[in-house]
Amino acid sequence: MSAPATPALPSLRETIARHGLEARKSLGQHFLLDPALCARIASAAGPMEGRQVLEVGPGPGGLTRALLDTAAEKVVAVELDRRAVAALAELGAAYPGRLQVIEGDALRLDPVVLLAPPRKVVANLPYNVGTPLLVGWLRRAAALESMTLMFQQEVAERITAAPDTEAYGRLGVLAQWRCRCTLLLSLPPGAFSPPPKVWSAVVGFVPYEQDPGPALFAAMERLTAAAFGQRRKMLRGALKSLGDADELLSAAGIAGDRRAETLSIAEFDRLARVLLTRG
Ligand code: SAM
Repeated sequence: MSAPATPALPSLRETIARHGLEARKSLGQHFLLDPALCARIASAAGPMEGRQVLEVGPGPGGLTRALLDTAAEKVVAVELDRRAVAALAELGAAYPGRLQVIEGDALRLDPVVLLAPPRKVVANLPYNVGTPLLVGWLRRAAALESMTLMFQQEVAERITAAPDTEAYGRLGVLAQWRCRCTLLLSLPPGAFSPPPKVWSAVVGFVPYEQDPGPALFAAMERLTAAAFGQRRKMLRGALKSLGDADELLSAAGIAGDRRAETLSIAEFDRLARVLLTRG
């Protein structure tokens, strides 16, 4: 199946004016109005045929339009702002049966319940909830084919950071433990209306096949919280809250005088498995 023909739609600026969709800071609203940029993000998400796609925060629907212009089977768009939900109803009418709009808080919704596989998540995320949304989806990564997500550039750099760098921390370890993470595209403030204060960047996530399961994921969350909570400390001190830190580190074959930021993802994986077996 190829992508369906694009229906005639009002411009995004007209949609914004018609529905009184002036951007609200409290909702992290910075809209992408350039159809070419929206199309680039949709195409960065990879093959779409037969896929169901979750979009969080469609706003006036620029990226939603681009997603509907792919061969995706269905787009489920979750939006907190009622004004945008009305604007999206018009878009749904232009793409019959392919757009489901849900008015609600994406933090409370599970993509695995909303979509049938193969599932993708594609979103220009609201800055204020980008990190908790990502961590929630990483827990469910085994059920997702990919995620293509826009964050503030600084968050994107933390997600893709290598060990021994300032940006390497809890978020990067969790993300790179579960997914191959690639920084795909950086966008200047002027690409958005209204422009944010900082650059933004799109990160691609392709989950690894092996699923750690919820107990090991929870162990990794505890471990990374403790390790990076006191990142300047040696691990034998930083991990004290998890029990006998010396014993934990020696069982994982890691020297107690190392610091969290020097550990590779594989070393974090070893430590999390030992932590899990020691309860
Ligand atoms: N996708 C649109 C675009 O690219 O132009 C808008 C992106 S804007 C950065 C983020 C959107 O997320 C806003 O429309 C905002 O109302 C919505 N939003 C904020 N918090 C949300 C939440 N918890 N659940 C669902 N949507 C949310």
